[in-house]
Amino acid sequence: MQKKRGIISAFINPQADGSLAFVERGCLLYDEHGKIEYFGAVPSADTMTGYEVLLRERHVTLPGFIDLHTHLPQYEFAGQGAEALLPWLNRYTFPQEARFSDERVAELQSLNFFQTSIMHGTTTTVAYLSSHARAAEIAFTEASRVGIRAYLGLTLMDRNVPAALITTPADAERDMLRLIERWHKRGLNEFVVTPRFAISCSADLLALCGRISQAHDTFLQTHISENHDEVAETAKLFPEAESYAGVYDRYGCLHAKTLLGHGIHLSDNERQLIKDRQSVVVHCPVSNNFLGSGILPYQKFRGEQLRLGLGTDVAAGYSLSMLHEAKAMTEMAKLRAHFDHAACELSVTDAVYQATLGNAAALSRAHDLGSFEVGKSADFCVIDDRRCDTLQDEEKNHYASLPERLNRIVYRGHSSMVESTVIAGSVVYSR
Ligand SMILES: [Zn+2]
Repeated sequence: MQKKRGIISAFINPQADGSLAFVERGCLLYDEHGKIEYFGAVPSADTMTGYEVLLRERHVTLPGFIDLHTHLPQYEFAGQGAEALLPWLNRYTFPQEARFSDERVAELQSLNFFQTSIMHGTTTTVAYLSSHARAAEIAFTEASRVGIRAYLGLTLMDRNVPAALITTPADAERDMLRLIERWHKRGLNEFVVTPRFAISCSADLLALCGRISQAHDTFLQTHISENHDEVAETAKLFPEAESYAGVYDRYGCLHAKTLLGHGIHLSDNERQLIKDRQSVVVHCPVSNNFLGSGILPYQKFRGEQLRLGLGTDVAAGYSLSMLHEAKAMTEMAKLRAHFDHAACELSVTDAVYQATLGNAAALSRAHDLGSFEVGKSADFCVIDDRRCDTLQDEEKNHYASLPERLNRIVYRGHSSMVESTVIAGSVVYSR
């Protein structure tokens, strides 16, 4: 049994309206199950009796980051390649994912992936795995060992990829049902139904994914409209569908627990359909930049009240840091606004909100994750922002208000600034 614990530090607390509350000196107390019992001004010593309270008055505590789209088996080759999406998948992704038939590779890479995620302050990860059921078992086991909240999916493909990655709808059904039984909603884990993208899935496989995700109340993650060639290829493969989003909708894959990676080139009609189905479009700006896929008009989509998320999309995204992703999100929004001849209305506040409470809402977990509120889970990271530049003494930095410190953390951040990461009240990482 854990102890009742707490921390006194500066806090940045996302709010339901998309803003951030800046608390220069506050206190968070949580019980032995990791549920928040108090958040606010530092209370009297009496109130803190019975709690082991950590003093971190020079640090900034943020809710744990939620990575809404990433690929576990790809982390090893992050940063490699200069091709566009489809050639890049063939050259790097498919051969690497095939290596996960080797249990030792699966074990080592899973551990490395989850440990690196928590080092970056990520407390919840939503990840694609390889196509191997055994590697998926290993990934869930390692996630549980590390203590991260893990939404993981066996990546399903039954055509147009190398033979080593091919499954059949019958095998996919057997593997998914077994993984759901063993891991779905067990501990901090959830199983995610994961057809890679329409190009690599037959109509039968997509229909199975739609059916299983709805029958077992799981999330479904896939890719959509990332790249023009991918959109054209999908149209050729599914002449019966009106659009790319129409393909997923036709086979029951568009619902309120669907996470659609990218969506850069979605048409007006597709966005309306996605909005009607209450599915989520997950923005992955680093990846989109890396593969030259385009720039998602985040501000426009937000204005249309589409449900949105943010993810690292490793390995096309080359970092597991959601702070790095937040930085890219603001920079890409400025570029997009420039080419749209519009004003950029996206700030660091918006990006940090999206990486925390915004992504919690996309996962339908805003009631227990993403901010500091009584009753929510104590998922947070403690950041030592004096470490953001080793060449000068950041303690004497003139720009010392909490909003200014957050800007510094986002634009000059790196993983060594994260001093510790706590999930459900347990310290899972400490530098
Ligand atoms: Zn992806």
